[in-house]
Amino acid sequence: MVRLPEISWSDAKELFEETDVAILPVGSTEQHGPHNPLGTDHLVAEALSKNVGERANVAVLPVIPVGVSEHHRQFPGTLWVPPRIFRDYVKATALAVASHGIKKILIVNGHGGNTAALVEVAGELRREHGVFAAVMMAFPPAMMAMGSGHAGTGETSVNLYFHRQLVKMERAVDTKQKERLGPLEIKGFNSIGPAQFPWDTIDLTETGVLGPAGTVVESTKATEKLGKELMEPYIEAVAKFVEELKGADLGSLLSKPHK
Ligand SMILES: [Zn+2]
Repeated sequence: MVRLPEISWSDAKELFEETDVAILPVGSTEQHGPHNPLGTDHLVAEALSKNVGERANVAVLPVIPVGVSEHHRQFPGTLWVPPRIFRDYVKATALAVASHGIKKILIVNGHGGNTAALVEVAGELRREHGVFAAVMMAFPPAMMAMGSGHAGTGETSVNLYFHRQLVKMERAVDTKQKERLGPLEIKGFNSIGPAQFPWDTIDLTETGVLGPAGTVVESTKATEKLGKELMEPYIEAVAKFVEELKGADLGSLLSKPHK
């Protein structure tokens, strides 16, 4: 048992005496197409963290379930907080953990929209507080490389692997993404001509299954088998990294003094 909400303070004391590493899962509560649960990003971050934490015997903190997701606002059920509140909350949580002697934190993030804020927080923790925080995605690079989009084949497959009972495959859809914002042509997610614009998901897709403008993003081909093939090697790789982090001297990881 390594999940902090499920153990007592005396168990936590033992765990913290063994290692100065903890895992902080972070995600979002936002639309993931008509077939995936709103909690996809935080449920996957939590599931990966639990698997890794058990293998490496390090504490897994309670998941932070609401993040920087305002771009999904038009879809029912999506929640968000402003980036500054998200940053403050994550930082305060990390400092609370650090007060117990846990000065190396692996932030497992399920939502790309959180990344900029998390890297900023990790920078402040390292430079100003003597806490080393590393930020990684809960979804494996192999899934990102598929380019199967938000709520597409890759992400849906990972959901099927971790919590099949929450996925309604009969509602999965393949969705042609829109190409125009008014009279202007959209490129990728966020470009119109030479400029960027603050896109919302609804600008590109009606179903919430999201990818680059003009492409067809599939979710109907998702399988539990693919989810397993994507996640099992990743769980191993992340557990190995946590072992390396456990062995690393904290001082050597922190920000260096001025020359
Ligand atoms: Zn997601």
